[in-house]
Amino acid sequence: MIVNTRELFKHAYGKYAVGAYNINNLEQTMGLFRGNLESQAPFMIQISKGARSYTDKRMLEAMIRMADQIFPDAIFAVHLDHGDEEACLDCIKSGFYSSVMIDASMKSYEENIAITKRVVAAAHAKNIVVEAELGQLGGVEEHISVSEDQVHLTDPAQAADFVKRSECDSLACAIGTSHGAYKFAGSQGLHFEIIAAIQKLLPGFPLVMHGSSSVPKDEVDRINAAGGAMKGAKGVDASQFLKAAKLGVTKVNIDTDGRLVWCRVHREYFKEHPENFDLRPPGKVFMVEFAKYIAEKNRYLGSAGQLEAVRKVVKS
Ligand SMILES: [Zn+2]
Repeated sequence: MIVNTRELFKHAYGKYAVGAYNINNLEQTMGLFRGNLESQAPFMIQISKGARSYTDKRMLEAMIRMADQIFPDAIFAVHLDHGDEEACLDCIKSGFYSSVMIDASMKSYEENIAITKRVVAAAHAKNIVVEAELGQLGGVEEHISVSEDQVHLTDPAQAADFVKRSECDSLACAIGTSHGAYKFAGSQGLHFEIIAAIQKLLPGFPLVMHGSSSVPKDEVDRINAAGGAMKGAKGVDASQFLKAAKLGVTKVNIDTDGRLVWCRVHREYFKEHPENFDLRPPGKVFMVEFAKYIAEKNRYLGSAGQLEAVRKVVKS
């Protein structure tokens, strides 16, 4: 069942965070639904600009619609990840998305508010929710690349003003995470003092953490042992998710770690079976491993086991 994030976030607030996972293809879609049902978690499907153009956006939408039929117990929101104004309006018009993200964080503060306000007006008219972004995360996110010295963390007072004026439904804050697999050297410490300060000014308001992959060392090691050449990097420690959730983080975006699962499975499979060329055997392994990865993240997020409680809320 495709739902709005309003009920999801209301139920999660202060207790756990909803996992927001990006998908691009059939195998990820199947693994995603299986993993969330196995762990009994509500979730969000994120579709990025790159995912929409990877094949044809209608293909992805049709896969999700069909997955909704194949897995009727699933409860999830369909979300546009890092949209510009044009992509947001297109998704709002399509009637398929229940949530969009307008990312105008690279614009000036006033421009960010003005653009976000326009998207909010269009979205709310159709009962679609809007995530906005304030501050600059580091790292590489498809078409956006932000170097370490360009990063600026979200200013709590500005966040409160931004939410009030833009009327967005949730806010992605720069609190020390970064996008991609090659995160910054050194530690990827979360700035809990910033999250706490924002929560104090915006009690009950849902916050979003982007770039929250862990980039597990054993995963990178396995990729490299099977022929990869990835540099080591340190991501977010998943055991910190619940601490962030208590401070109002209700949505955590995880993408890179899922790509690492894909890379590891396929590299290992073809290294171990050099005579094979069939895509289905590694595809089958991948769906199982992706589902396992989703279920594990959900346990860290605290969303595992919440599905039936959420069902009562969204049905009432
Ligand atoms: Zn992001």
